[in-house]
Amino acid sequence: MPEHKSWANVPLAPANKAPPAPIFPWTRGRGFRAAMFLSFDVDAESAWTSKDPAHAERLVTMSFGGYEARVGTPKLLELLRDLGLKATFFITGWSVEAHPAMAESILQEGHEIGHHGFHHLLPDPGDPFIQEELERGFSSLKRRLGVVPVGYRAPFGESCEELLSSLKQHGMLYSSSWRDDVRPYRHVLADGSPGVIELPVTSSYDDWMHGLSARFSPRTILPREHVLSMWKDELDEVRDWGAMVTTVLHPQVSGRPMRFRLLREFLEYAMGVGDVWIATGREIAEHFANCEASVQRLDG
Ligand SMILES: [Zn+2]
Repeated sequence: MPEHKSWANVPLAPANKAPPAPIFPWTRGRGFRAAMFLSFDVDAESAWTSKDPAHAERLVTMSFGGYEARVGTPKLLELLRDLGLKATFFITGWSVEAHPAMAESILQEGHEIGHHGFHHLLPDPGDPFIQEELERGFSSLKRRLGVVPVGYRAPFGESCEELLSSLKQHGMLYSSSWRDDVRPYRHVLADGSPGVIELPVTSSYDDWMHGLSARFSPRTILPREHVLSMWKDELDEVRDWGAMVTTVLHPQVSGRPMRFRLLREFLEYAMGVGDVWIATGREIAEHFANCEASVQRLDG
């Protein structure tokens, strides 16, 4: 009898070796019950050409991504300025090279710039381009913006051991891709050593899932009432849990008028409840690292 490849190849162990997330308070002495990692993924046209380089000549498909530089990102920056919020923008190296003015405007507004690959290539295990894609991303951010990022979000939300250990080797502070928790935790690498901090994500706050439909990404577009009720319910329950939410918003989706209105209403709600710490990935990860260090000092 032949062996099924899943019996032979899939270890009888959890894929994630990290222990459960520690329960730390959200900031010191400010009464926040929960946190929101406010983040955007700026893929621009690389969202499309990473799926198929031939899209580069399909100009209407490309125009979905082009909306980010022309309208979406400037409008979102205006919204964040009006609300007095700072966010993290994970930008592909390709977007920085193709739209330097857009990338600079994000930086000038004081937002955090994160690494999102170079050409938004899916980091699949064994892929020979994982390191080069990472290097190219770092180099575009450094050369064009003078930024050395501390945070990384995997293109297409996928990751693997090789990538995780590379993030640590590059001195990154955090990753924001995993779906397996509602609080930050520290990764454990394959060799048992500590890895980067994870700021986990949920699909509920990924606007692409319910706000964009295109020939090569067909989906049902959900109206404001559906999405707002989902976003509020998730946030309210997370406040009761003392946990966090992470948004994964794209200027080509949430920079559209109806989605923009919905996002503004949601952010005003989150600010209005008064107990949600709305912060960048760097702020949350640094806070986590400080809590971890003080616990270790007490233990030591
Ligand atoms: Zn992306």
